[in-house]
Amino acid sequence: MAIGFEDDFTLGRLFDIDVMKQSSVHQLSRTDLGMPPRRCMVCEKPAKECARDQTHTARELSEAVERQYLAYCSSVGNGGLAAGL
Ligand SMILES: [Zn+2]
Repeated sequence: MAIGFEDDFTLGRLFDIDVMKQSSVHQLSRTDLGMPPRRCMVCEKPAKECARDQTHTARELSEAVERQYLAYCSSVGNGGLAAGL
């Protein structure tokens, strides 16, 4: 199921950005399922608040995504694309 996949796979958080932009489809929420709300990748607020208020610029978000990606690559241990940067 989708939420389990996202929690196991750090990059799953990246997909949420697109989902939240698109609309209320994602309003079937983690809290509805008894899970804690997802945190924003840039700050510590709930991700939904930042998405709704458009708290962060596209640049901030892309930088946060890059950090997440690099952290994911190093946690996996193979370096991934990060080794080629
Ligand atoms: Zn935020």
